[in-house]
Amino acid sequence: MNIQNYIGGALINPKGELFLDNYNPATGKVYSYIPDSTEEDINNAFKAAKNAFPTWSKTTKEERFKVMMRIADLIEERHDELALAESTDNGKPVKLASHVDIPRAASNIRFFATAILHYASESHDMDGAAINYTLRKPIGVVGCISPWNLPLYLFTWKIAPALAAGNTVIAKPSEVTPMTAYLFSKICIEAGLPEGVLNIVHGLGANVGAAITAHEGIKAISFTGGTETGKTIAKVAAPMFKKLSLELGGKNPNIIFADCDFEQALRTSVMSSFANQGQICLCGSRIFVERPIYEKFKTAFVAKVSRLKVGDPNDPTSNLGALVSKEHLEKVKGYIALAQEEGGTILTGGNQVYLDGALADGNYLEPTVIEGLSYNCRTNQEEIFGPVVTIMPFDTEEEVTDFANSTEYGLAATVWTQDISKGNRMAANLQSGIVWVNCWLLRDLRTPFGGVKNSGVGREGGFNALNFFTEPTNVCIKV
Ligand code: NDP
Repeated sequence: MNIQNYIGGALINPKGELFLDNYNPATGKVYSYIPDSTEEDINNAFKAAKNAFPTWSKTTKEERFKVMMRIADLIEERHDELALAESTDNGKPVKLASHVDIPRAASNIRFFATAILHYASESHDMDGAAINYTLRKPIGVVGCISPWNLPLYLFTWKIAPALAAGNTVIAKPSEVTPMTAYLFSKICIEAGLPEGVLNIVHGLGANVGAAITAHEGIKAISFTGGTETGKTIAKVAAPMFKKLSLELGGKNPNIIFADCDFEQALRTSVMSSFANQGQICLCGSRIFVERPIYEKFKTAFVAKVSRLKVGDPNDPTSNLGALVSKEHLEKVKGYIALAQEEGGTILTGGNQVYLDGALADGNYLEPTVIEGLSYNCRTNQEEIFGPVVTIMPFDTEEEVTDFANSTEYGLAATVWTQDISKGNRMAANLQSGIVWVNCWLLRDLRTPFGGVKNSGVGREGGFNALNFFTEPTNVCIKV
């Protein structure tokens, strides 16, 4: 099966007629082919998006709302097909795609379809002498580049506010997980999204992503992915003064105080460590436990983790499926080896898992817990992005704050304590864009989402995203 680009309202092959292999991570086998698009395809997509902009930017908010709601409805109608496709492409359990990825993709579209109806801009009264008001205008043609870990979820999270604000879009999903973006383009056609409003171009980051970044006419880029790729994009985009929203890597602390609700902290920590095979930018990969409960927590945690089932993503009893690619599996295994070189002890896991039959070449890895490392070793400083966590004791609030803040990242942190004052103090002192207290991954789509330090620049979510995808003009009228 050949995936196609979605340009100017039509599904078409790349100009060069070249395709790349698309692997099923559960079997390690090629199961479809992706357009190996080039700058030429981006130029075509740009023409289509530019032609569509004058009309789309002048549609009423109500019209944009209606077509986006049809898209959301169709995502829900195709729920099972999309969930299976996401699992086949990414290796995640179908159960996870069914409960998280696909419902959230529909929610993203619906959320921004309705948000635009409520979006208002400021006015500033100069004590009666003059009145200022802010006009919020769509930017023009914008770029959205997304990663492989939550494919349709993050793809729609960017596209929805861009479209709702009246922009036309060139979007690139990860080359590793293109399938649901392709199915999404079919949904957009069926929903009647006018041609050229959204253009989806598949291919390698170094070709397609780089061509989006370098294109003079694309005035804003919303990117989610690795910190190194973010740096490359920022370097190319800065001299053109493009607007950039960069959602990058993380090395998130999960801080467990002795006064926590033990059972809740334990249950949620298993999820926050290993959901999606640990391939969520928000996963807590460094677990810090206050010394009085360290041994108790460690024993209970390891017991629970060692019972997790790594298996066929189609099997509803599997807790973990396959890692996204062979390359990524090797990278994660490399970090397990590094942790041991650095003096770490593997408490559970650490090995590749070999399943039978059709799954024999899949990318499976045991959920792994490592103890005995210092907070500042490479294993505890670099993003692994797999089913690997470290566990360490701490003695004081100040000490754990220093440990938590010691990395170059600052995306998300979790704090477990029944003392709400302590929770508030920690939230104030942690260098992190998001702090969860006594929960994890609880998301209100209106809230600012993003990281500090090398975890990114800018915030997505709610009106932040609509502000990003619009240009303000201040109009000052003398009274
Ligand atoms: P990458 O940075 O490798 O890729 C992200 C996207 O950028 C892909 O579509 C990729 O294409 C594309 N790309 C690659 N090179 C370039 C380039 N030179 N110019 C423009 N685009 C390019 O990240 P991963 O896909 O490996 O995703 C994992 C990373 O994403 C982790 O670091 C994770 O923390 C981060 N992430 C951050 C989130 C956040 O909200 N902060 C959420 C989810 C993930 P291709 O795949 O074809 O190479």
